Amino acid sequence: MIIDGKQIAADIRRELRAEIEALLREGRRAPKLAIVIVGHSPASETYVANKLKACAEVGIEAVKLAYPTEITEQTLLTEVHRLNSDDSIDGFIVQLPLPPHINETTILSAIDYRKDVDGLTPENVGRTVQGLPSIISATPRGIRELLARYRIPTEGKHVVVIGRSNIVGKPMAILLMQRPYLSLPNMSAASLGDATVTICHSKTRDLAAICRTADIIIVAAGSPNLLTADMVSEGTVVIDVGINRIDDPAAPRGYRLVGDVDFEHVAPKAAYITPVPGGVGPMTIVSLLQNTIQAYHEHTR
Ligand code: NAD
Repeated sequence: MIIDGKQIAADIRRELRAEIEALLREGRRAPKLAIVIVGHSPASETYVANKLKACAEVGIEAVKLAYPTEITEQTLLTEVHRLNSDDSIDGFIVQLPLPPHINETTILSAIDYRKDVDGLTPENVGRTVQGLPSIISATPRGIRELLARYRIPTEGKHVVVIGRSNIVGKPMAILLMQRPYLSLPNMSAASLGDATVTICHSKTRDLAAICRTADIIIVAAGSPNLLTADMVSEGTVVIDVGINRIDDPAAPRGYRLVGDVDFEHVAPKAAYITPVPGGVGPMTIVSLLQNTIQAYHEHTR
């Protein structure tokens, strides 16, 4: 079965819109997100535009704060501190990447974890590891939501996560191995967490043999066709996080997007599989909206 991330994301946006409309009817203000962007990268501009559009669609007030490429690290830090103490803002993100003269870790570490709706501060990551209430980075949160909405339990299952990045692989592995009652509220009924997790990366030996023992495989490597049919046992759940551009002169833009999975040959063996595009991707922005509303509730309690 193909997991329809686009449909689930649309369902969630509708639910969030209803939730915000109800807040407004109670006389409460809308949640507010600020997006900090430095410089003029076309890719970042597109991501930010998509985030602003998604906020507008559900009724989150969103402001874009654009700074020139030459901004100093110190001035950007001052902006972060200002946003930390701005009571009208429930959450904010700093769009990555930043220009090379600015240390991303320094900037991210300065964000108040309660407003860190990208879930990237060391405090949020540490809290997630310890099972404390935290804001979880968008893609792992979105994948967890997909599994929940498709009622795919993870308890006792062997999950292989390919990739160990701070934004996908590591937090994903932590969420899956956690005791579920310690995780975020408002999740659907399926039992998430309590999995046996194997984390694989570029130095892993015999990835194929490890993958064949998996009940669920989550691939976040950024390598087209990394997961092939011979690596997947019948009935496996396959979640493809990868987004790779492949030259394709026949495509309108001269390229097309593919994931990390050889979809055509893996799909017939998989119990569930996410397509690229239309699987995990649409869930990532929706998770940012959910994180913003979560931060709003904490902030306005
Ligand atoms: P990253 O480049 O930071 O990390 C990639 C990881 O994959 C590394 O840990 C590396 O060790 C591992 N890896 C690479 N090649 C491998 C191989 N041959 N075998 C085993 N492990 C291998 O990547 P990231 O930021 O986690 O992103 C991964 C992919 O997911 C990228 O394609 C990215 O574009 C995509 N992504 C998609 C979304 C989404 O919303 N769908 C969100 C974030 C990232």
